[in-house]
Amino acid sequence: MNRDYDIVVIGGGHAGAEAAWAASRLGARVAMITLDPSRIGQMSCNPAIGGLAKGQMVREIDALGGLMGIATDNTAIQFRMLNRSKGPAVWGPRAQADKYKYALEVQRLLATCPNLEILRGEVAQIEANPAVQAVVLADGTRLTCRAAIVTTGTFLHGLMHTGQRQTEGGRVGEAAAKGLSACLAALGLELGRLKTGTPPRLRRQTIDFSAFEVQPGDDIPAPFSYLNEYRSAWSPPLMQVNCWIGGTSEQIHQIIRANLHRAPMYSGQIQSTGPRYCPSIEDKVVRFADKTRHQIFLEPEGLDTDEIYCNGISTSLPADVQDQIVALIPGLQNARILRHGYAVEYDMVWPTQIDSTLQTKRVGGLFLAGQINGTSGYEEAAAQGQIAGINAGRLAAGKNVDFILRRDQAYMGVLVDDLVTKPPTEPYRMFTSRAEHRLHLRSDNADQRLTPLGRDIGLVDDSRWAQFTSRRDAISQAHALLKDLSADDFLRRSEVQWSDVVEKYPQAAAITSEIGRRLEIQIKYEGYIVRQQRDIDRMAGMETKLIPPALDYASVVGLRNEARQKLGKFTPRSLGQALRISGITPADVTVLAIHLDRRQRAAT
Ligand SMILES: Cc1cc2nc3c(=O)[nH]c(=O)nc-3n(C[C@H](O)[C@H](O)[C@H](O)COP(=O)(O)OP(=O)(O)OC[C@H]3O[C@@H](n4cnc5c(N)ncnc54)[C@H](O)[C@@H]3O)c2cc1C
Repeated sequence: MNRDYDIVVIGGGHAGAEAAWAASRLGARVAMITLDPSRIGQMSCNPAIGGLAKGQMVREIDALGGLMGIATDNTAIQFRMLNRSKGPAVWGPRAQADKYKYALEVQRLLATCPNLEILRGEVAQIEANPAVQAVVLADGTRLTCRAAIVTTGTFLHGLMHTGQRQTEGGRVGEAAAKGLSACLAALGLELGRLKTGTPPRLRRQTIDFSAFEVQPGDDIPAPFSYLNEYRSAWSPPLMQVNCWIGGTSEQIHQIIRANLHRAPMYSGQIQSTGPRYCPSIEDKVVRFADKTRHQIFLEPEGLDTDEIYCNGISTSLPADVQDQIVALIPGLQNARILRHGYAVEYDMVWPTQIDSTLQTKRVGGLFLAGQINGTSGYEEAAAQGQIAGINAGRLAAGKNVDFILRRDQAYMGVLVDDLVTKPPTEPYRMFTSRAEHRLHLRSDNADQRLTPLGRDIGLVDDSRWAQFTSRRDAISQAHALLKDLSADDFLRRSEVQWSDVVEKYPQAAAITSEIGRRLEIQIKYEGYIVRQQRDIDRMAGMETKLIPPALDYASVVGLRNEARQKLGKFTPRSLGQALRISGITPADVTVLAIHLDRRQRAAT
């Protein structure tokens, strides 16, 4: 059987879903091949979307016309704005989702995509000569295409560990994908191996919740999707529920220490590196030896399920040790473990081999997105899926493959720039501290930053655009009114809130509280943002000074040998990106800039 598509998306996780959504909505004929279509959009680990910096990324994906924000709003069972006690620049929207309904919602949304076919299968091979020509499934089916987006998550040679017990698989209950790694290596890509882990799941009815502190959601839930925010009144469609906070104890830590020799991370059974910022409980006990308690959060996995996710005790210790740990947590003495925690090791591709469009440098039309690039997390995966989907869509349409987000435009830009300039030594996750322009990259203004761009590339449809422009106009009219009333100076004061403005200036009551709050943030931050904008403008020259991809660094006179090697390996797209490669000094970049200027003069 031979079928023909513009783009084949390999995988139906968070990267694959967003890639297929973007590419098909840009008009490409897309096939998504996935091992089990009923698991498309599955949350492999915690049943939550967003959080610090991650929440901002979901807002950015939505502002560009993506699906993650919509799916989250439709299936969330608790909304919380994290960091609310700090400035709005670092607020992080987070939602607990019903993980079963979330996956079904992603599947429902994908079913509305034009030109998207979803096929069950395992991709074993990608044919390229020299650019992508076809993908071949394990059963021999050949799909011709112009681009392939690999989003295989934790499945390539996935190996799960619970104590000494090792099982091949991408996640519990699902087989590993074995053929594709060898094919990627044969295409000249250098592969690595990383690890991540997940905690035990507990049966709700066996938990004594009275021993835990209740953690309710926000009284007024803030939606992720701007489409919902633009509506005058929005409330979550699903019932909202509580989570609970508890903790471990020194007695539990002693048991963990006594069993470290049975923990795959410590016995040498797992060689690959796990996420330092999302450590297993055994890691926490070893690294923070002086702490006598680590917090745990009990999070419902959905409304119609008994499963409770035990956030904070991710582990690959043997099952009998997990039983002891859980039984010693106050409130869990009778808790039944439905599924033990485990770690999974998987193949990934070092992301120095992709450029900022997520296309591999070696093989034209081959894009990589998600966990395969060394990241961890649904939001990081979705962000990359969207960028890869847009660029593959552009390739299919015969346009330039040049959709790149800058570091000052979006957390998504920071993510990709970090991946291509600093290969991760552990699964990469996004933090606000990674963004130098975080006052600018707020969760409230992602639409102002990105929706016009989404419109230009064709992902923002007429309806979203009409809602965005009407909101944008309302904000600028409201801003003008505040200036007329001289209320903007009053609002700039740190102790003044929007409600104070309405009280003092009755005419401001005509402005909705939603727009008022946005103006409050905008006006309070104006001074900082102007300063930050100056920094951005100063750096802009470096970002727009492009380096030809085929530049022979050996010919650059005066460049240090180490710099030659590094630049040859990373092939940065601009002088700004070259400067961010670890080991490259400002002096190296000056030498390079002089070389490029000379080259340009010689050519004219
Ligand atoms: C055990 C475990 C623990 C985790 N812990 C955390 C955590 O603590 N924090 C965190 O942020 N993230 C965690 N994650 C990671 C999170 O699940 C991923 O970051 C996210 O799901 C990655 O999305 P993705 O789209 O790249 O891949 P996935 O969601 O893994 O999806 C991969 C998709 O590719 C398909 N596929 C794979 N190979 C093939 C093939 N050859 N042919 C066809 N289809 C294929 C699969 O069927 C699947 O649909 C964990 C994941 C696992 C499995």
